[in-house]
Amino acid sequence: MKRFAAAALAALMAAGLSGCGWQTVDPDEARESIQVIAMDTVMIFTTYGEKSTHADYLSEDEVRRLESLLSRTDSESVVSQLNNAGGLGISVGEEVGGLLAAAEEYSLATGGAFDITIAPVVSAWGFTEEENRVPSQEELDGLLALVGPEHVTLDADAAALTPGTQIDLGGIAKGYASDRVAEILKENNIPRATISLGGNVLAWGDRPDGTPWRVGIQDPQNADRADAYAGMLKLENAFAVTSGGYQRFFEADGRTYHHIIDPATGYPADSGLTSVTVVADCDWDEVDGRPGVGTMCDALSTALFVMGEEKALDFWRSGVYDFDLVLVTEDGRVVVTDGIANEFEASEESGYSYEVVS
Ligand code: ADP
Ligand code: MG
Repeated sequence: MKRFAAAALAALMAAGLSGCGWQTVDPDEARESIQVIAMDTVMIFTTYGEKSTHADYLSEDEVRRLESLLSRTDSESVVSQLNNAGGLGISVGEEVGGLLAAAEEYSLATGGAFDITIAPVVSAWGFTEEENRVPSQEELDGLLALVGPEHVTLDADAAALTPGTQIDLGGIAKGYASDRVAEILKENNIPRATISLGGNVLAWGDRPDGTPWRVGIQDPQNADRADAYAGMLKLENAFAVTSGGYQRFFEADGRTYHHIIDPATGYPADSGLTSVTVVADCDWDEVDGRPGVGTMCDALSTALFVMGEEKALDFWRSGVYDFDLVLVTEDGRVVVTDGIANEFEASEESGYSYEVVS
């Protein structure tokens, strides 16, 4: 109900009823917020401006379109068609082709820490069907033989997999969706918005009072408490994407196994990190609806979680990509790279110790 009331109000304001003695409200202040369950997560689109309602529902449609294109569990999706093609080449279309090319780039750039061909291993741990189990080393070794970017052949819009290889775009799909939503915001002249796709956040513009948006970084040690933060980021025109082992996991024999797999071992990444947040600028001029900064942040958050603190910081220092990091470690530290040190606020009550690195 609230949603429709807000929409009606926005429409009234857009119609310029201020002329009838109504108090004038800046149409840029009109706000619309919707919640959408898609891609296995809760999404919240909060947009401002005259076309906020329109932009929210376009964004919802877009996310659902991407889900049916990219889902591994939907047998009709292009990804499933490729996975089921038995090694034959099929036309995947320009869009999926572009995403596969981006995935390959991030796989090569991260030394294989990000790898969409990890799919059969993710399934062996039961994360696809949610029937979790611990696979044997023998089983993992067999599956790992078919993991690696060399098992995906891409030729413009056509793709083929080595027989037995499967792909899973779960580590990149929400990031790509955030790039697509950014394009919708741009096209509809949305002045400000916060877009939350699970752990993928887009802070678009600034807050109505001119101050930055505040994006909380969940405390991985208190993942069941929505108000427990390891820190807060003050962001304007930026993507912030968090990967961690605390959202999807299971316990067996007193051990915890989560859903981000180290392609080097076939086991859940055990690198000493509990979460990685990748932050990068969202430059409106560069938003063009293709895999962009949102996709990059998603791929890198997964990869750097696998790599661990030392390698992640080396990768950041290499300057290959332009981003900043907030790392939360198992031993109770929060490590912030100096490019966002001024935008980062420590959480006093969290118990973490904080350090800035350059
Ligand atoms: P989430 O989807 O939970 O926000 P991520 O972006 O880190 O987190 O993606 C994790 C998902 O990506 C897993 O559920 C799995 O489908 C897939 N995945 C797991 N390990 C890897 C990896 N090393 N490289 C690429 N994708 C992975
Ligand atoms: Mg990711």
